[in-house]
Amino acid sequence: MIAYTALLDKAIVNPEGLSTNDVMALLTPPSLAATRRLWQTAHLLRLDATGKCIHLRAIIEFSNYCRQDCLYCGLRQGNRRVARYRMTPDAIVEAAIKAHKAHQFGTYVLQSGEDPGYDLEDLEWVVQEIKLATNAAVTLSIGERSYGVYQALQEAGADRFLLKFETSDGNLFRKLKPTTTLEQRLGCLDTLRGLGYQTGSGIILGLPGQDLESVASDLLLCRDADYEMVSIGPFIPHPDTPLGSVSLASNVCSTLTTIAVARLLVPNAHMPATTALGVIGQNDKWWKSEAPKLQDARSLALMAGANVLMLDVTPAKYRASYSIYPGKASADGDVICDSIWQTKQDVSNLSMTICPGRGDSPKQPWGRGSTDVKREGHFH
Ligand code: SAH
Repeated sequence: MIAYTALLDKAIVNPEGLSTNDVMALLTPPSLAATRRLWQTAHLLRLDATGKCIHLRAIIEFSNYCRQDCLYCGLRQGNRRVARYRMTPDAIVEAAIKAHKAHQFGTYVLQSGEDPGYDLEDLEWVVQEIKLATNAAVTLSIGERSYGVYQALQEAGADRFLLKFETSDGNLFRKLKPTTTLEQRLGCLDTLRGLGYQTGSGIILGLPGQDLESVASDLLLCRDADYEMVSIGPFIPHPDTPLGSVSLASNVCSTLTTIAVARLLVPNAHMPATTALGVIGQNDKWWKSEAPKLQDARSLALMAGANVLMLDVTPAKYRASYSIYPGKASADGDVICDSIWQTKQDVSNLSMTICPGRGDSPKQPWGRGSTDVKREGHFH
């Protein structure tokens, strides 16, 4: 425990100085007490960097067509069992406006499979209309596109972009994402960065073939890129994919620990308590003994470094078809007002509030190396 505490201190003072071995050690606390210490440290760092309130993002999953064939994902091109849908531009804007009437979200996230089926002008129009109608920020999560597409959508008003590199292990990436390459994906992230998007990335935790060293390297990549958003979600096997019979390798505890270490390494990042974490939390009994009053594992993540919640506001009829992993559709309520009410309740049970406003990156301006973090307050 003494050695672990010393390592935590080192991480707080000088995350740049951490080696792969240090990060591997941070990811494996020697005891429950050390685990709790890690989570608490990450929580304090989060309070310092992004404040006590929680950012609530509304996500519209507008198309489940995908030209990629990732072995883990239920939207993969090769999955013939999923009913494909593509919302019209009008319907996407309508969904955002409807959500906005229920709650003035500061950010609308537009996510889809990598769907080549929209005209660029239509996507530009969607971004413009949502921004006009809501005055909120728009985050896109539509996969790998050309420089020209990213640029046009930014000019249309898109503020942020989410593109998880999923794993930084070249061999693993090649096996799991055969229709693209790690270089291509990281290249897209660089492009987005260069254009001035607030850029988010991250990983899937517990992929078959992923080991501790691989996760440590992933987190170091997030540190070095200094992403404005870092998302860590557990891998949930989808029965209609080649990885359908793989057993679940991550649990709530390992996910929280990875989120907490990511917070140490990228203190200013916005980090979601992912829906996938909520899903595995439904069957994971252990975390409930840690936090008997909490209903949802996502709440515990908000005490371990995460500071963002995503609320699904996709029209109910499409929810079941956006099945990147099983259990997702039922994780969020069908009725927007109910889920907002429940989310507010959960957040207030943690003695936290929902942030008003867009919830931009605390780094101003966002961009590599432009941050001037004050590492003080709770730690000195
Ligand atoms: N087409 C977009 C959005 C992908 S879906 C893109 O390429 O970025 C959003 C995220 O779902 C993915 O980035 C991936 O991290 C996650 N995901 C997909 N399948 C999953 C699974 N089986 N378990 C957990 N997360 C999964």
